[in-house]
Amino acid sequence: MSELAPRYSAAALLRARFDRHFWGPLWRRATPRDAYDVVVVGGGGHGLATAFHLARDHGLKRVAVVERKVIGYGNVGRNTTIVRSNYLLPDNFHFYEDSLRRYENLSQTLNFNVMYSSRGVVDLANSDDEMVMYARRGNAMRLAGIDAELLDRDGLRRFMPELDPSLPRRYPIVGGLLQRRGGTVRHDAVAWGYARAAAALGVDIIEECEVTGLSTAAGSATGVETSRGAIRAERVVFAVAGHTGAIGRMLGIPLPVETHLLQAMVTEPIKPLVSTVVSYMYGHAEVYMSQSDRGGLVMGGVLDGFPSYTREPLWHRLEEVVQGAVALFPQVAGLRILRHWAGTNDQTMDGSPLVGRLGYDNVFLNGGWCYGGFKAIPASGAACATLVATGQAPDLIRSFAPERFAAGRMLDEKGAGPFPLRQ
Ligand SMILES: Cc1cc2nc3c(=O)[nH]c(=O)nc-3n(C[C@H](O)[C@H](O)[C@H](O)COP(=O)(O)OP(=O)(O)OC[C@H]3O[C@@H](n4cnc5c(N)ncnc54)[C@H](O)[C@@H]3O)c2cc1C
Repeated sequence: MSELAPRYSAAALLRARFDRHFWGPLWRRATPRDAYDVVVVGGGGHGLATAFHLARDHGLKRVAVVERKVIGYGNVGRNTTIVRSNYLLPDNFHFYEDSLRRYENLSQTLNFNVMYSSRGVVDLANSDDEMVMYARRGNAMRLAGIDAELLDRDGLRRFMPELDPSLPRRYPIVGGLLQRRGGTVRHDAVAWGYARAAAALGVDIIEECEVTGLSTAAGSATGVETSRGAIRAERVVFAVAGHTGAIGRMLGIPLPVETHLLQAMVTEPIKPLVSTVVSYMYGHAEVYMSQSDRGGLVMGGVLDGFPSYTREPLWHRLEEVVQGAVALFPQVAGLRILRHWAGTNDQTMDGSPLVGRLGYDNVFLNGGWCYGGFKAIPASGAACATLVATGQAPDLIRSFAPERFAAGRMLDEKGAGPFPLRQ
């Protein structure tokens, strides 16, 4: 039986019906030990996935994930759950395709249902020029064996009958680019699944423990200072998402990253309406939308647009998203917003991530995921673990090295970048 195989026998499941304590914690609440092979700072998706792969793929026995709040507090639990690999640049689409394939099997990998739903992702086009750009992106993907379909208005009607593309709109809809294997994955299940699977392999998940400094000697890191005392470590990985800039300041290493706010919301539940993930740019605004299993419309738009650590977002951004939603689907006008939240994103200047060494030979950064890092988690965890364990960056993430800015080798893909402009 594999280490991740079900923990419960049929008899145990039967007993469980009568045992209200059956649903115990998914992972041990660990306290810090003196020393580890690797300390991963940040218990978001990237930190947990990196720790899981360090233990599973590289056999490291002494790995800790140190999280200043609780698992799922950060963006891994705040995103809008969209996964896709519809990028234009090969370095991006190969990486995100690897991630999407891992998502397709993640429930089996973790033995935890992450509810992957391949409902498709459609980017709507407002003009013929935009269709040309989508055709270019779709063709690049198809040449690499990744699914992409250019839809005209009739194709859109067939794929998502809930949308009437020919309604008069200020920004008309002329077609779109579809990736059928794109879709959604339940975000908190991803965090819990990785945490549970990593802990089952011996990883210490240490919550409510903030890393406040890096200990060094003779030009190498020797561990981390934390709110619960010093921890020695042979290697340290920072996977702190929106706090990447703060880590850069802590280490005295300026990073090409800004912290920006991104908000999202969900409406009251309604009967099934939106069958896919749809995104619609109109002017300088955007709405993207999917329908949750409970029936709420989950919606988001562009960044608030100024660097900040606050989670109190701008009201007018919310209004823009709602305007876009009603322009797309007039039938949703009048729905009530149930919840609204925001997260802090680590936006890089070219919109691509930062994965590589950070200042020291044994310190690594896994960050810069901007507002698209949820879909990257499975590939990033596997590749970052290989980098940390072997010292060699796998091809998949070589072009994400932070040194690219000094060398002028930006991976600049608009639409995935700091401000969602069209390609
Ligand atoms: C509203 C919104 C919608 C989004 N929608 C999508 C989407 O649909 N698809 C997609 O692909 N991406 C999306 N994203 C982006 C995605 O959520 C992030 O890129 C990704 O989750 C970031 O990686 P993470 O999960 O590791 O981050 P986090 O979950 O934020 O993990 C970082 C952790 O580090 C911890 N930490 C920080 N500093 C310290 C310290 N000093 N010591 C210890 N711990 C520390 C934090 O508490 C946090 O838990 C969205 C983001 C937002 C905000």
